[in-house]
Amino acid sequence: MIVFLICLSLFGCISDVEEIQFEVPFSDDDCVKIKQSGVVISFDDRKNIDAWNQSRELFQKYNIKATFFVDKWHTLNESEISILSNLSFDGHEIGYHTGNHSDYFKYLENNLSARDYYELEVLPGIETMKNYGFHPTSFAYPNGHRDNDIDALLFANFSSLRGTRTNVNGSNHWMTDCANFDVYRSYHFPHSDLNESDYQIRNITIQSNLEKIKNNGTSIFVINGHGIVSGGFPVSDQYLTDFFKYLNEEKIPTLLFSELK
Ligand SMILES: [Zn+2]
Repeated sequence: MIVFLICLSLFGCISDVEEIQFEVPFSDDDCVKIKQSGVVISFDDRKNIDAWNQSRELFQKYNIKATFFVDKWHTLNESEISILSNLSFDGHEIGYHTGNHSDYFKYLENNLSARDYYELEVLPGIETMKNYGFHPTSFAYPNGHRDNDIDALLFANFSSLRGTRTNVNGSNHWMTDCANFDVYRSYHFPHSDLNESDYQIRNITIQSNLEKIKNNGTSIFVINGHGIVSGGFPVSDQYLTDFFKYLNEEKIPTLLFSELK
C-alpha cells in the first residue's frame, strides 16, 4: 500500500485510474441502495485450489472472507474437495464457475443458444457440486462473458452472478452504491504476469476505490483474482498481505456474494 501512496503523491498517476468515477445509470430515486458497504473478494478456477489452500492461514489471520469460484467439479479429487470443505468451514463461500470453463460467447459464435449453454455448461455441474455437499448461490462467468439472456436462465439457480470488466448491459459496476441488478462486474488484482505499467495502474485503481469506500461508507468494491502465490495469474503474498492489512486498519469489511442479496 505504501507503493500506491507514494505513487499518488509523487507521480500524480491518478490520471491512470481506471473508471474510478461511479457510474450513475439510475436516477437517485431508482437506485436500489446496497445494504452494507465493503469489499467483495473472489478467486477463480479449480486449478488454483492447492494454491488457495496454501494461503488459508493468511485469510484466517486477517479475518478476511472470500468467494472461491470452482469449475470442472467432475475432475476434483478427494484432497481438493477436502480443501474446499475447509475453506467453507472457515466462512468462505464456494461458488460455481461452469462444468468445463467454456466461454459463453464461443457458444453464440457457433450458433448455439443461451439455453444450450445453460443445459450443457451449467446444470450438470451443479448436480455434481451438490453431491459433494456444496449448494451454490453464486456463479462467475468464465472470461466474464455474459448477456441478459443467459443471466435470466441462471437466476433460476443463483441469486448473484459475477462477470468481469466488460459487458456492461444489465450489470452493476465493480464499484457501486446501487444494487439494481444481481449481476456484478469485477476488477482484477494485479498479478505477477503483468508488465510494470499495468501492474501499477491496477494498484492505483484499487487503492482509489478503497479510499472511496473508506470515505463514502456506502459502497461496495468487487475484485477478483485467480492463483495466490502459485497457480494461474498469481497475486503475490506480499500484495495480498498488504491489502488485507489495509482492510483491517481501515475497518473495511469483506462480504461474500451471498451477502449481496
Ligand atoms: Zn475462470
